[in-house]
Amino acid sequence: MQKIAQLDHEYVWHPFTQMKDWLREEPIVITRGKGVTIWDSRGRKYLDANSSIWTNLHGHAHPKMNRAINAQLKKIAHSSALGLANEPAALLAERLIKSNKVGENGPTKVFFSDDGSTAMEVALKLSYEYWRRTGVSKPRFLSMEGAYHGDTVGAVSLGHVDLFHRAFKNLLFETDSAPAPYCYRCPHNKAEPQRADARSYRKCDFECVTAVEKKFSEANRSGKRITGFVVEPLMQGAAGMIAQPEGWLTRVCQIARNYRAHVIADEVMTGFGRVTDPAKGLFAMQQEDLAADFVAVAKGLTGGYLPMAATLTTRPVFEAFLGEYEEFKTFFHGHSYTGNQLGASAALASLGLLQSRQSLAERTKLATRFDRGLQRLWKHPNVGDMRRVGLVAGIELVRNWRTREAFELRERVGIRVCNAMTKRGVLTRPIGNVIVLMPPYCTPAHELAKMIGALEESLFEVLPAESLS
Ligand code: PMP
Repeated sequence: MQKIAQLDHEYVWHPFTQMKDWLREEPIVITRGKGVTIWDSRGRKYLDANSSIWTNLHGHAHPKMNRAINAQLKKIAHSSALGLANEPAALLAERLIKSNKVGENGPTKVFFSDDGSTAMEVALKLSYEYWRRTGVSKPRFLSMEGAYHGDTVGAVSLGHVDLFHRAFKNLLFETDSAPAPYCYRCPHNKAEPQRADARSYRKCDFECVTAVEKKFSEANRSGKRITGFVVEPLMQGAAGMIAQPEGWLTRVCQIARNYRAHVIADEVMTGFGRVTDPAKGLFAMQQEDLAADFVAVAKGLTGGYLPMAATLTTRPVFEAFLGEYEEFKTFFHGHSYTGNQLGASAALASLGLLQSRQSLAERTKLATRFDRGLQRLWKHPNVGDMRRVGLVAGIELVRNWRTREAFELRERVGIRVCNAMTKRGVLTRPIGNVIVLMPPYCTPAHELAKMIGALEESLFEVLPAESLS
């Protein structure tokens, strides 16, 4: 085993990883990247088919990104945001607010933090405290079943992934949940399974929307008003790439508005062009012309180069925290690296690239190619559902597509397929039995074909089957 791999085995504890399995094999040690390709310490190369856990937008070592970070590094890497301002953070805040506009509406203030979890934690605390100050004694939150909003204790409380969260149950505060619009496995979808995205052939009356309405009305009736509705717009990521049928988001946000609840949009995965029509904007809420009271962004904020996050919010929320010093209405929350100058410079460079005409054209082309390329996977009988929104797709593998019978988690089907893809030089991580493909925006046609081809071959290797014509 190479030296670095040995050190890793000896000293590093990896996230979301069964370390007993990890210690059985020599890990891949990544040493460099260029565009969509990354290399390991043995000189093997891989395509980064999940954009380095959903963060990378423009590819690795992009000259403009590197130049912006280097230029900032020559000035200063970091200065405190407690008591001091800085140029990149101020410019970035302006740009985030301007790119989040929906007509005249949208957030007006930016609170910086470090990652998706802390961005959600900020939204949660601000919303809670806003309502408390406006006379609600116990503000309450409603989020979606299967939701994952991060790993800090507040973010975990908003989440509903039993496997991850049950161990911490007694540490958490209570939140309510409503069914996510998971058309493929929805008990209200009367359609027989077809070889297509279940959203396209669903037969239902949007019972999932009615369920959200019911949560709000019941909470009101029992005097436990819901004050915050938390949602990953257009697609729930870690829940298994659960894509929402068109119109769902508009309907549920309208319900939240009717009950005067904050709409808290977790755009940690969906933000920065990942799921939107480029012409509509960079954020998922903009796809359905919706403005949120809170927008949490992270992952793609710096193009995947540095850890940084932000929570955007509105003037009324900001104003609820204004007062004389001795009133102590201050938002007592913040992190040492808040408003980091290097991170903000990377984010500005990334937004510059994203808002260029070239990026718009490339993303449009990539989405079309992606959609076309994925269709061949329907040939494999263990593909049950395939959900693509923009530049992300979840391919759900099932034992029997006619009955939707699922594989058991302990069979590790997703892991085995991804391991077979790694052998073919394509890296991604599954969510249970869902294979995620999330190419960086710079992915050329032939590399995209290689990613999809590797998945197709791996499916036939791990789950040998007759091809469906
Ligand atoms: N929200 C969503 C929607 C996410 O997908 C994630 C990460 N997968 C988070 C929050 C937490 O982000 P982080 O891992 O950067 O803390």
